Amino acid sequence: MSNITVCARFRPLSSKEKKDSRDNICIRSIDSESFVFKDEKEECTFSFDKVFYEESMQADVYEFLALPIVKDAVKGVNGTIITYGQTGAGKTYSVEGTSILECDEQKKGLLPRVVDGLFECIKSADELTKYTVKLSMVEIYMEKVRDLLDLTKDNIQIKENKMQEILLSGVTEITISDPEGALRSLSGGIVNRAVGETQMNVGSSRSHCIYILTVQLESTTDKRVKTGKVILVDLAGSEKVEKSGAEGKVLEEAKTINKSLSALGNVINALTCGPSTRSSHIPFRDSKLTRILQDALGGNSRTALLCCCSPSPSNVLETLSTLRFGTRAKHI
Ligand code: ADP
Ligand code: MG
Repeated sequence: MSNITVCARFRPLSSKEKKDSRDNICIRSIDSESFVFKDEKEECTFSFDKVFYEESMQADVYEFLALPIVKDAVKGVNGTIITYGQTGAGKTYSVEGTSILECDEQKKGLLPRVVDGLFECIKSADELTKYTVKLSMVEIYMEKVRDLLDLTKDNIQIKENKMQEILLSGVTEITISDPEGALRSLSGGIVNRAVGETQMNVGSSRSHCIYILTVQLESTTDKRVKTGKVILVDLAGSEKVEKSGAEGKVLEEAKTINKSLSALGNVINALTCGPSTRSSHIPFRDSKLTRILQDALGGNSRTALLCCCSPSPSNVLETLSTLRFGTRAKHI
């Protein structure tokens, strides 16, 4: 990738955390890029491209992190937006908002804003290009890829074509012609996700959810076709499970998630190394997650990582681990 933007976002204290911590929080803001993180023992400073504190608006997050990617996608450039963090840290809130369909304007998440943004850019584009927007939605659970727009497709294979584009074999692609249609399909997929999870007795925080918006650009003069993708990833919770406590399925899930999140970290690190130090081998194949993201992360593309954190002193270990993941992604 030519470009990675790494941001941290702190949600407000939950009412339970408020009671427990008497409004104490584990950070002290310095400015819009840096803050001091404190635990019982020490304080350290973290810096990111941008820090969104609890009062930050969904629109601010969108404008900083996603809008540049949306603008590029309608020119045929791929981009990826990834939310990382422990369960409850605000990943789904950042991506979807409180609910994809009935959200008030302020709380709308990145996904509906990206959809709006794509159609706005297309509306104001020149007449020489015909645009088609398609939507797919998949979930990765235990290294298996499920189609969220058609639950009967529960083992989607990942393939690569001659142009080194990643294809999800047989995945449902819905052509969308306006934001309203997109939201209807998306909410169908989100409902499917919940249904499937109840059937399998799985929590949504144990799977990665991937939204793929593909913009196809066809030149009306020479009929040449280009595509630009915007991929949004709502990752599985990054929390470590208590080794002694977990067993059976819970432990297997945790190991699988841990493996794919480290694979993601390794791929990002390998890609953000300067050309001189960049290893020729980027370990995309180490997980389904990195394999699906291969052509969106590699090449001339943009990536944005949103590290979602709880501000509560009771979560300092997980928050620290999330902040370290973000720092590692930014520079080597
Ligand atoms: P995750 O997807 O990381 O498990 P959620 O997005 O579901 O976490 O957030 C957990 C809870 O915190 C939800 O009730 C959500 O509405 C709330 N929340 C998260 N981020 C924010 C925020 N920035 N502002 C207000 N509420 C938030
Ligand atoms: Mg979630």
